Amino acid sequence: MQLQVSRFESLGDAFHTRLHPSPLPAPHWVGWSAEAAAALGLPTEPPQDDELLQQLSGNRVADRVTPIASVYSGHQFGHWAGQLGDGRALLLGDLISPQGRQEVQLKGAGRTPYSRGGDGRAVLRSSIREFLCSEAMHALGIPTTRALCVTGSPAPVRREEVETAAVVTRLAPSFIRFGHFEHFSHNGHHAELRRLADFVIDQFYPECRAADGNPYAALLAAVTRRSAELVAQWQAVGFCHGVLNTDNMSILGLTLDYGPFQFLDGFDPGHVCNHSDSSGRYAYARQPNIVYWNLFCLGQALLPLLDDSQQALDALEPYKALFPAALQRRMNAKLGLDDPRAGDAELTEELLQLLSRERTDYTIFWRRLSLAQAASEADTRQADQGASPLPQGPHWQPVRDLFLQPTAFDDWWARWRQRLQPSAGLGAGPQASARMLRANPRVVLRNHLGEVAIRQAQAGDLSTLQRLQAALARPYDEHPDSADLADFPPDWAAAISISCSS
Ligand code: AMP
Ligand code: MG
Repeated sequence: MQLQVSRFESLGDAFHTRLHPSPLPAPHWVGWSAEAAAALGLPTEPPQDDELLQQLSGNRVADRVTPIASVYSGHQFGHWAGQLGDGRALLLGDLISPQGRQEVQLKGAGRTPYSRGGDGRAVLRSSIREFLCSEAMHALGIPTTRALCVTGSPAPVRREEVETAAVVTRLAPSFIRFGHFEHFSHNGHHAELRRLADFVIDQFYPECRAADGNPYAALLAAVTRRSAELVAQWQAVGFCHGVLNTDNMSILGLTLDYGPFQFLDGFDPGHVCNHSDSSGRYAYARQPNIVYWNLFCLGQALLPLLDDSQQALDALEPYKALFPAALQRRMNAKLGLDDPRAGDAELTEELLQLLSRERTDYTIFWRRLSLAQAASEADTRQADQGASPLPQGPHWQPVRDLFLQPTAFDDWWARWRQRLQPSAGLGAGPQASARMLRANPRVVLRNHLGEVAIRQAQAGDLSTLQRLQAALARPYDEHPDSADLADFPPDWAAAISISCSS
């Protein structure tokens, strides 16, 4: 892997500390993402030679590489937390790939000046979760940091109990967070704040410079747009981030820092996936408001670069329309609708209330709805060829069977089917199922699936992890071999408790 000195490093000493990773004994490969590797132009299997394994476990540093830990601050759980920083992450350098320049970061590679009493390590459990989920999100089409690999070591790491250490190699065009801006702004370091904002604009948002008016206001507006799109995708797929602090918000609108995240099983808008979040601040349904709150913090941090505070408010204001519009677009895709119409929001809301009342399994509901539509389209095609059409079709039953009180669902179903009817050449019904099957994944990384893969990996068996990884890489495909991964969660899934500690 040919790394170059990171462009982030050029920002200067105020932004980071140079240091080497702390070695880990007896590293071994735990996971390797063929898809991430291919995107980087690397082999799709972990290389046989020891050199890369040692480098990505933090035991050797390649020539010309100066690893750095960056400093940032942030708001955690609604309160100013002061200085944080890469307490266990090290940026190795940039890789020039066919997909553009990617930063390569080791997470769990040892203590840094920003570890604040932490051990600088990540355990195998949380490293596998981040590895699987970031690659799964990418396969779902949701903006995210990616993961090339996980390496494990027998080195003990103390959490609630003693576990073993691991390192995830993460990839992103940039790991810059809202918290980086908050750091310099809060400390009154306005020259550094401007340098950071100029860096982000020049590298990632050049259109903000070209726009009329203040480029930093344009940056805030652009980040607002990307964040609204991101959280709309999370809501549509049923993803809870779990720790939406401002230091976990990517300036590029990527899903960042996978901790106690969860994909919903039964649909519960109030679901809190983080055991440490006692007030439910980061409940599933609150995520859109929290992202807005976080954008507000970013706006506040950028004030020294803006003409006045009204400019920040003007840049943030569109979120209130952008988020619902982005969400409705995603929900319409899930419903097979391609021509937005008045009444779509109500149709969606009534459905979500139904799912919420019954705690219907979110992923299975959408998939069965898509399959019911596909079957109904097949019936219609047969009817066109002379066979008698079935009014609902036998495939209606599996989705209806999800409800204890199916009459409310029947009512909704009838209205949805009515809405799907093509009218005046709009909203071509026959392709609705194709849209739905691309918008409603069959397999997502449910907590219990990760848990089983982790337990086996902890016992030295990586086959379940690899099988799950393969299914998550093709989340929209039907495949008989992975039927169990698309099934309901077992009863014990509800008892899984994931906290910030990882
Ligand atoms: P997180 O909640 O994972 O986003 O982390 C919040 C802050 O705590 C960041 O500054 C992390 O780098 C730091 N941190 C989390 N875990 C550790 C650890 N085991 N050792 C050192 N720093 C950590
Ligand atoms: Mg974090």
